Amino acid sequence: MFEFLSKLFNNNKEAIEHSEEKPKQKTSEESKLRSAKDTYTDRCSVCGFYGEFHKNNRSFREGYQCPECNSSLRYRGQAASILKIFGKPGQETITDLSKDDEFSQLTIYEPGLIGPFRKLFSGYKGYRNSFYWDDVDLGDYSDDIQCQSLEELTFGENEIDLIISSDIMEHVRQPWVAFADIYRVLKPGGYHVFSIPIDFPIKSKTTYRVDTSGDDDVYIEEPYYHGNGVGGKSLVYTDFGADIESHLIKIGYNVDMDVMDHEHVDVKKLLTFVTQKNIN
Ligand SMILES: [Zn+2]
Repeated sequence: MFEFLSKLFNNNKEAIEHSEEKPKQKTSEESKLRSAKDTYTDRCSVCGFYGEFHKNNRSFREGYQCPECNSSLRYRGQAASILKIFGKPGQETITDLSKDDEFSQLTIYEPGLIGPFRKLFSGYKGYRNSFYWDDVDLGDYSDDIQCQSLEELTFGENEIDLIISSDIMEHVRQPWVAFADIYRVLKPGGYHVFSIPIDFPIKSKTTYRVDTSGDDDVYIEEPYYHGNGVGGKSLVYTDFGADIESHLIKIGYNVDMDVMDHEHVDVKKLLTFVTQKNIN
Protein backbone atom coordinates (compact mmCIF):
# COMPACT_ATOMS: atom_id res chain seq x y z
CA MET A 1 0.00 0.00 0.00
CA PHE A 2 0.97 3.64 -0.62
CA GLU A 3 3.87 2.36 -2.65
CA PHE A 4 4.17 5.34 -4.91
CA LEU A 5 3.84 7.82 -2.09
CA SER A 6 6.33 6.04 0.13
CA LYS A 7 8.79 5.89 -2.74
CA LEU A 8 8.41 9.62 -3.25
CA PHE A 9 8.71 10.10 0.47
CA ASN A 10 12.06 8.30 0.52
CA ASN A 11 13.31 10.13 -2.54
CA ASN A 12 12.50 13.37 -0.85
CA LYS A 13 14.18 12.87 2.49
CA GLU A 14 16.45 15.76 1.71
CA ALA A 15 13.43 17.91 0.92
CA ILE A 16 11.83 16.92 4.20
CA GLU A 17 14.91 17.79 6.18
CA HIS A 18 15.03 21.19 4.54
CA SER A 19 11.36 21.84 5.07
CA GLU A 20 11.71 21.06 8.76
CA GLU A 21 14.59 23.43 9.27
CA LYS A 22 13.93 25.78 12.13
CA PRO A 23 14.50 29.46 11.39
CA LYS A 24 17.83 30.49 12.86
CA GLN A 25 19.35 33.80 13.72
CA LYS A 26 20.20 35.11 10.30
CA THR A 27 23.63 36.40 9.50
CA SER A 28 23.88 38.17 6.16
CA GLU A 29 25.73 35.11 4.85
CA GLU A 30 22.83 32.89 5.91
CA SER A 31 20.17 35.13 4.45
CA LYS A 32 22.07 35.13 1.17
CA LEU A 33 22.04 31.32 1.25
CA ARG A 34 18.36 31.29 2.13
CA SER A 35 17.40 33.56 -0.71
CA ALA A 36 19.44 31.38 -3.08
CA LYS A 37 17.51 28.37 -1.80
CA ASP A 38 14.23 30.21 -2.39
CA THR A 39 15.06 30.80 -6.04
CA TYR A 40 15.35 28.46 -8.96
CA THR A 41 15.79 28.78 -12.69
CA ASP A 42 13.52 27.00 -15.13
CA ARG A 43 11.13 27.40 -18.03
CA CYS A 44 7.50 28.15 -17.18
CA SER A 45 5.33 25.22 -18.26
CA VAL A 46 2.40 27.61 -18.76
CA CYS A 47 3.82 30.51 -20.80
CA GLY A 48 7.40 29.57 -21.66
CA PHE A 49 9.13 32.33 -19.67
CA TYR A 50 12.71 31.27 -18.94
CA GLY A 51 14.47 32.67 -15.89
CA GLU A 52 14.40 32.90 -12.12
CA PHE A 53 11.42 32.06 -9.96
CA HIS A 54 11.37 33.43 -6.41
CA LYS A 55 9.40 31.92 -3.58
CA ASN A 56 7.80 35.20 -2.43
CA ASN A 57 5.13 33.37 -0.44
CA ARG A 58 4.97 31.49 2.85
CA SER A 59 3.69 28.45 1.01
CA PHE A 60 6.03 26.97 -1.59
CA ARG A 61 3.03 25.69 -3.55
CA GLU A 62 1.49 29.15 -3.86
CA GLY A 63 4.83 30.81 -4.42
CA TYR A 64 7.49 30.83 -7.13
CA GLN A 65 5.03 32.71 -9.35
CA CYS A 66 6.01 33.18 -12.95
CA PRO A 67 7.04 36.82 -13.48
CA GLU A 68 5.40 36.67 -16.89
CA CYS A 69 2.06 34.82 -16.47
CA ASN A 70 1.76 34.83 -12.68
CA SER A 71 1.19 31.05 -12.41
CA SER A 72 2.22 29.68 -9.03
CA LEU A 73 4.22 26.49 -8.63
CA ARG A 74 1.13 24.33 -8.18
CA TYR A 75 -0.40 25.53 -11.45
CA ARG A 76 2.88 24.96 -13.25
CA GLY A 77 2.92 21.44 -11.82
CA GLN A 78 -0.53 20.80 -13.26
CA ALA A 79 0.50 22.33 -16.57
CA ALA A 80 3.52 20.00 -16.70
CA SER A 81 1.32 16.97 -16.00
CA ILE A 82 -1.28 17.93 -18.62
CA LEU A 83 1.52 18.49 -21.12
CA LYS A 84 2.98 15.09 -20.29
CA ILE A 85 -0.36 13.42 -21.07
CA PHE A 86 -1.49 15.35 -24.15
CA GLY A 87 1.59 17.19 -25.46
CA LYS A 88 3.19 16.39 -28.79
CA PRO A 89 6.86 16.77 -29.71
CA GLY A 90 7.71 20.47 -29.99
CA GLN A 91 4.98 21.58 -27.58
CA GLU A 92 6.84 22.88 -24.55
CA THR A 93 4.13 24.75 -22.73
CA ILE A 94 0.40 24.65 -22.09
CA THR A 95 0.16 27.71 -24.32
CA ASP A 96 1.64 25.65 -27.18
CA LEU A 97 -0.69 22.77 -26.39
CA SER A 98 -3.73 25.07 -26.24
CA LYS A 99 -3.27 25.82 -29.96
CA ASP A 100 -3.29 22.14 -30.88
CA ASP A 101 -6.28 21.18 -33.05
CA GLU A 102 -6.81 17.81 -31.43
CA PHE A 103 -6.45 19.07 -27.87
CA SER A 104 -8.86 21.94 -28.49
CA GLN A 105 -11.56 19.45 -29.50
CA LEU A 106 -11.52 17.79 -26.07
CA THR A 107 -14.24 18.15 -23.49
CA ILE A 108 -12.54 19.81 -20.54
CA TYR A 109 -14.15 20.63 -17.20
CA GLU A 110 -12.48 22.87 -14.67
CA PRO A 111 -14.46 23.72 -11.53
CA GLY A 112 -13.62 27.09 -9.96
CA LEU A 113 -13.01 30.50 -11.44
CA ILE A 114 -9.30 31.26 -11.24
CA GLY A 115 -5.98 30.00 -12.56
CA PRO A 116 -4.10 30.27 -15.83
CA PHE A 117 -5.81 27.53 -17.87
CA ARG A 118 -9.18 29.25 -18.22
CA LYS A 119 -7.90 32.01 -20.47
CA LEU A 120 -6.24 29.47 -22.72
CA PHE A 121 -9.10 26.96 -22.97
CA SER A 122 -12.20 29.11 -22.66
CA GLY A 123 -12.60 29.46 -26.43
CA TYR A 124 -12.99 25.70 -26.86
CA LYS A 125 -16.45 24.42 -27.66
CA GLY A 126 -16.03 21.67 -25.09
CA TYR A 127 -14.66 23.78 -22.21
CA ARG A 128 -16.82 24.09 -19.09
CA ASN A 129 -16.26 25.72 -15.76
CA SER A 130 -18.48 26.04 -12.73
CA PHE A 131 -18.89 27.41 -9.26
CA TYR A 132 -20.96 26.20 -6.33
CA TRP A 133 -23.56 28.49 -4.77
CA ASP A 134 -25.96 27.03 -2.24
CA ASP A 135 -28.82 29.23 -3.46
CA VAL A 136 -28.60 28.32 -7.16
CA ASP A 137 -30.03 25.03 -8.47
CA LEU A 138 -27.43 22.57 -9.69
CA GLY A 139 -26.99 22.89 -13.44
CA ASP A 140 -28.47 26.42 -13.51
CA TYR A 141 -26.45 29.49 -14.42
CA SER A 142 -25.58 32.65 -12.55
CA ASP A 143 -23.87 35.31 -14.68
CA ASP A 144 -23.06 32.70 -17.33
CA ILE A 145 -21.37 30.42 -14.82
CA GLN A 146 -22.93 27.06 -14.17
CA CYS A 147 -23.63 25.92 -10.62
CA GLN A 148 -22.18 22.47 -9.99
CA SER A 149 -21.50 20.38 -6.92
CA LEU A 150 -18.68 17.89 -7.43
CA GLU A 151 -20.67 15.43 -5.33
CA GLU A 152 -23.60 15.42 -7.76
CA LEU A 153 -22.50 16.69 -11.14
CA THR A 154 -25.33 17.25 -13.62
CA PHE A 155 -23.18 15.90 -16.48
CA GLY A 156 -23.90 12.53 -18.04
CA GLU A 157 -21.77 9.41 -17.75
CA ASN A 158 -18.61 9.17 -19.91
CA GLU A 159 -18.79 12.77 -21.13
CA ILE A 160 -15.50 14.41 -20.24
CA ASP A 161 -11.93 13.91 -21.45
CA LEU A 162 -10.08 16.00 -18.88
CA ILE A 163 -11.05 17.41 -15.50
CA ILE A 164 -8.69 19.83 -13.79
CA SER A 165 -9.11 20.81 -10.15
CA SER A 166 -6.64 22.97 -8.33
CA ASP A 167 -6.86 22.83 -4.52
CA ILE A 168 -10.58 22.18 -4.56
CA MET A 169 -11.06 18.61 -3.33
CA GLU A 170 -10.18 19.53 0.29
CA HIS A 171 -13.20 21.89 0.26
CA VAL A 172 -15.70 19.26 -0.85
CA ARG A 173 -18.04 18.04 1.89
CA GLN A 174 -17.76 14.36 1.00
CA PRO A 175 -14.59 13.97 -1.04
CA TRP A 176 -14.89 10.27 -1.88
CA VAL A 177 -18.42 10.81 -3.19
CA ALA A 178 -17.00 13.60 -5.37
CA PHE A 179 -14.08 11.52 -6.65
CA ALA A 180 -16.60 8.78 -7.55
CA ASP A 181 -18.87 11.24 -9.37
CA ILE A 182 -15.90 12.64 -11.27
CA TYR A 183 -15.10 9.05 -12.26
CA ARG A 184 -18.66 8.61 -13.52
CA VAL A 185 -18.56 11.64 -15.84
CA LEU A 186 -15.08 10.99 -17.23
CA LYS A 187 -14.85 9.14 -20.52
CA PRO A 188 -13.14 5.76 -20.31
CA GLY A 189 -9.44 6.64 -20.36
CA GLY A 190 -10.25 10.25 -19.32
CA TYR A 191 -8.10 12.06 -16.79
CA HIS A 192 -8.57 14.01 -13.59
CA VAL A 193 -5.44 16.10 -12.99
CA PHE A 194 -5.52 17.75 -9.59
CA SER A 195 -3.62 19.31 -6.75
CA ILE A 196 -4.46 19.20 -3.07
CA PRO A 197 -2.52 20.81 -0.23
CA ILE A 198 -0.28 17.92 0.68
CA ASP A 199 3.19 18.44 2.03
CA PHE A 200 6.07 16.27 3.12
CA PRO A 201 6.26 14.43 5.34
CA ILE A 202 2.98 12.99 4.10
CA LYS A 203 0.87 11.63 6.93
CA SER A 204 -0.45 8.15 6.36
CA LYS A 205 -4.15 8.69 7.08
CA THR A 206 -6.64 11.19 5.75
CA THR A 207 -8.34 13.08 8.56
CA TYR A 208 -11.73 14.75 8.49
CA ARG A 209 -12.10 18.19 10.01
CA VAL A 210 -15.90 18.08 9.87
CA ASP A 211 -18.42 15.31 10.57
CA THR A 212 -20.64 15.30 7.47
CA SER A 213 -22.63 12.15 8.27
CA GLY A 214 -25.78 14.18 9.00
CA ASP A 215 -27.40 17.04 7.07
CA ASP A 216 -25.52 19.67 9.04
CA ASP A 217 -21.79 20.09 9.39
CA VAL A 218 -20.45 19.22 12.84
CA TYR A 219 -16.94 20.53 13.42
CA ILE A 220 -14.44 17.99 14.65
CA GLU A 221 -11.55 20.44 14.36
CA GLU A 222 -11.50 24.21 14.64
CA PRO A 223 -13.03 25.53 11.36
CA TYR A 224 -10.28 26.36 8.93
CA TYR A 225 -10.73 28.32 5.72
CA HIS A 226 -8.82 29.03 2.52
CA GLY A 227 -9.53 31.98 0.24
CA ASN A 228 -11.88 30.86 -2.56
CA GLY A 229 -10.03 32.96 -5.13
CA VAL A 230 -12.94 35.35 -5.67
CA GLY A 231 -12.83 37.27 -2.43
CA GLY A 232 -14.71 34.79 -0.23
CA LYS A 233 -13.58 31.94 1.96
CA SER A 234 -14.02 28.23 1.71
CA LEU A 235 -14.09 25.71 4.59
CA VAL A 236 -11.50 22.93 4.56
CA TYR A 237 -13.27 19.61 5.18
CA THR A 238 -10.45 17.16 4.60
CA ASP A 239 -6.73 16.89 5.28
CA PHE A 240 -5.62 14.22 2.83
CA GLY A 241 -3.04 11.59 3.72
CA ALA A 242 -1.21 8.92 1.76
CA ASP A 243 -4.28 6.66 1.90
CA ILE A 244 -5.83 8.86 -0.81
CA GLU A 245 -4.09 6.52 -3.24
CA SER A 246 -5.94 3.41 -2.03
CA HIS A 247 -9.27 5.31 -1.84
CA LEU A 248 -8.90 6.35 -5.49
CA ILE A 249 -7.86 2.86 -6.61
CA LYS A 250 -10.95 1.46 -4.88
CA ILE A 251 -13.14 3.83 -6.93
CA GLY A 252 -11.53 2.41 -10.08
CA TYR A 253 -8.89 4.99 -11.00
CA ASN A 254 -5.40 4.31 -12.20
CA VAL A 255 -3.42 6.58 -9.93
CA ASP A 256 -0.19 8.34 -10.73
CA MET A 257 1.59 11.27 -9.15
CA ASP A 258 3.99 13.63 -10.84
CA VAL A 259 6.79 15.70 -9.45
CA MET A 260 8.31 18.36 -11.67
CA ASP A 261 11.57 17.57 -13.36
CA HIS A 262 13.82 19.79 -11.26
CA GLU A 263 16.28 19.24 -8.45
CA HIS A 264 15.22 22.29 -6.46
CA VAL A 265 14.24 21.33 -2.93
CA ASP A 266 10.71 22.83 -3.14
CA VAL A 267 10.00 22.02 -6.76
CA LYS A 268 10.60 18.32 -6.26
CA LYS A 269 8.23 18.33 -3.28
CA LEU A 270 5.30 19.52 -5.38
CA LEU A 271 2.87 16.69 -6.08
CA THR A 272 0.35 16.66 -8.90
CA PHE A 273 -2.15 13.81 -8.99
CA VAL A 274 -2.89 12.26 -12.35
CA THR A 275 -5.78 9.82 -12.14
CA GLN A 276 -7.32 8.06 -15.08
CA LYS A 277 -10.63 6.28 -15.54
CA ASN A 278 -10.25 2.68 -16.56
CA ILE A 279 -10.47 2.18 -20.31
CA ASN A 280 -12.69 -0.91 -20.00
ZN1 LIG B 1 4.64 31.75 -17.05
